[in-house]
Amino acid sequence: MTIKQYRGRMAPSPTGYLHVGHAVTFWHAQERARATGGRLILRIEDLDLARCRPEFREAISADLKWFGLQWGEGPDVGGPFAPYLQSERRAAYLAALKELHAAGCVYPCYCSRKDVAGAVEAPHDENEEPIYPGTCRSSDSIAVDPTPWPGGVNWRFRVPDGEEMRFVDLRFGEQRAVAGRDFGDFIVWRRDDVPAYQLAVVVDDAAMGVTEVVRGADLLVSTFRQQLIYRALRIEPPAFYHTPLLLDEVGQRLAKRNAALSLRALRAAGVTPSNIRARWIAISERDIR
Ligand code: GLU
Repeated sequence: MTIKQYRGRMAPSPTGYLHVGHAVTFWHAQERARATGGRLILRIEDLDLARCRPEFREAISADLKWFGLQWGEGPDVGGPFAPYLQSERRAAYLAALKELHAAGCVYPCYCSRKDVAGAVEAPHDENEEPIYPGTCRSSDSIAVDPTPWPGGVNWRFRVPDGEEMRFVDLRFGEQRAVAGRDFGDFIVWRRDDVPAYQLAVVVDDAAMGVTEVVRGADLLVSTFRQQLIYRALRIEPPAFYHTPLLLDEVGQRLAKRNAALSLRALRAAGVTPSNIRARWIAISERDIR
């Protein structure tokens, strides 16, 4: 048996300045890559052009470097799996969508966000999307060809209702979910012709040979969605290590809107990377979510 070299990645979206939550997650990613002499990749998840801004994209490298993070492959340094900007990888996502369509795993959905919101109960977890009620499940998927232009409708992945799924998270241990109950049919390609996060992340992690995904625990449920895509594409999934979500003084999740905790703002206020690490890495190592 050959042991694959560890390949991890940092995959920020340039929709705001990076904050301490990102920094801590990426710090864990770097530590885990270093512990095995592995490699860390920087991939910019800039598919949602309406939300991404060039100044945030430019800030990413500078802020990560300031914090003490280094990567061996990325948009600025190149590498064997370039391009490392998702906005330049559309062909790969389209090929995957085509494959999912041929396998009967996706269907065109004509529902608006409002239709879905009106038809279902609100999800229990504010981070989770509502469970799709299945209105378009029976639409004749084969009659609509997603290639060469899949836009105009949302393409949804049909989840195996009632299937109990599990994976072992390397930080949080065994995770279980029931498809159709804990998460529903999810979008893999948006009507505005943007590949959805779930599809793009799987295609890229697989194409870039990522062996372990380190990211925030807000994506634990998405890992089940992504496992389904891996299975449908017949690709072995990577390992997963989710990092606890950091909370601010009032117990709220640190989010990009929490501007005071952006790396930029902290730096401007004279806080050093080692101050940040001393305070937040310890918190992230406690068993909280
Ligand atoms: N681009 C995603 C984000 O910034 C992270 C995706 C991932 O790590 O899988 O939230």
